[in-house]
Amino acid sequence: MSLASETIASLRAKLTRKEITPVDIITDLEAAIIKQNPALHAYLSRDFDSAKRAAESADITLPLGGIPIGFKDNINVRGEPCTCGSKILAENYTATYDATVTTKLRNAGAIPFGRLNCDEFAMGSSTENSAFGPSRNPWDHARVPGGSSGGSASAVAGDIAIATLGSDTGGSIRQPAAFCGLVGLKPTYGTVSRYGLVAFASSLDQIGPMTKTVEDAAILLNHLAGKDTHDSTSLSQGSAGVSPVSDFTANLGKDIKNLRIGLPKEYFAEGIHPQIRDRVQQAVKQLESLGANIEEISLPHTGLGIATYYILAPAEASANLARFDGVRYGHRAIGTNDVLEHYFASRGEGFGPEVKRRILLGTYVLSSGYYDAYYIKAQKARTLIRDDFSAAFMKVDVILSPTSPVPPFRIGEHRDDPLAMYLADAFTVTLNLAGLPGISVPCGFIEEEGKALPVGLQLIGKPHDESTLLRTAHAYEQATEWHKQHPR
Ligand code: GLN
Repeated sequence: MSLASETIASLRAKLTRKEITPVDIITDLEAAIIKQNPALHAYLSRDFDSAKRAAESADITLPLGGIPIGFKDNINVRGEPCTCGSKILAENYTATYDATVTTKLRNAGAIPFGRLNCDEFAMGSSTENSAFGPSRNPWDHARVPGGSSGGSASAVAGDIAIATLGSDTGGSIRQPAAFCGLVGLKPTYGTVSRYGLVAFASSLDQIGPMTKTVEDAAILLNHLAGKDTHDSTSLSQGSAGVSPVSDFTANLGKDIKNLRIGLPKEYFAEGIHPQIRDRVQQAVKQLESLGANIEEISLPHTGLGIATYYILAPAEASANLARFDGVRYGHRAIGTNDVLEHYFASRGEGFGPEVKRRILLGTYVLSSGYYDAYYIKAQKARTLIRDDFSAAFMKVDVILSPTSPVPPFRIGEHRDDPLAMYLADAFTVTLNLAGLPGISVPCGFIEEEGKALPVGLQLIGKPHDESTLLRTAHAYEQATEWHKQHPR
């Protein structure tokens, strides 16, 4: 069997027993990528030679020594491209520095390997907004892997990556993890430094792991989390109400007896695919049999989530994307007569339709006259949504919902209807608005057009309580066989 289909934990065990070398891993991975990537289109680029050199000198005594990790193409790795799935950064941008997560993973011995496809500037739920075309879902190549971190998900699920990083502004780690049958963890806002992640909506963005198992997600979080002087919103373990966790794997394997799990009735209402509802309800029964206490709760402002998110995220994006002006870096239009014309032409040529739509929306809701009616109003709604969660967490330890109300879309299904795709984010955006941690774990399959399509279960935690989330997800995973299934 190719080493590409293994987990971080299993490879680390083999490395320490000296059964394999880091070069064996990278060689198997490259072979698997050559074979599968033309069909999946998960990787946009990779530098095998430099990864192989890093493998040759890898220190296997380090905790992630010799483990290749794939990066969503919006996280900077020095010397490599960072296109953000956009034409505007495709031609002439090479990262001049490492993101903090890159530095941290390198310090732990990991080898950054491969740039993974995503929706342009992480805007989307399918990778169809990538300027380089969509990635494919390994379970059904006619369907999307989800988005925006769809390349990161497709690669792990297709066994052409060991584990990858994604970024999650409104669900972009959890939803593709659900669509591809993986584990995807969005940490509490501030847990992981955003330095070197190309900003989409700064008050919502978080980097997190996409892995084959819960254990791998915990292992990676150990090396991603922590205060960073380059990101003033990052928090150290043990500060500002953050309970210090020195090892996120420490509670894996502990039971979940008497854990209080809340089912928000608003997340099980109309609009959920009936088979998805059924799979999630089966999972609830399983958790109950493991000793958890299940109770129905209410998060009454859930219905405001999509509208609130699609005002605040574009507002922040319109400000963050102002830096792409064709002057400092990125695509530069030629033959223009003055500066304004130059800006218009460079941005007009460089950005795709979804990014333009968001910039228009964002500048509109921030413009004088509409600022109070939209932006301020949305900020108030954001507080209501956060308060709903705070009240619920007085009663329960963990909240459970489907990750996505719908199965993976067919490629092109929402081409003419962006709003339909926005609506499918209903269960994920609320966590970003409230800053809460969330994890998606596989909870079964549904059958559509003769294909088995993965279903994801979302667990939502109290702020900075990733440990309980991981323990719960792990207990469920170990009681089921879903994570052992591979696409044929
Ligand atoms: N699908 C959402 C959007 O299009 C979320 C994206 C994300 O989390 N990066 O904005």
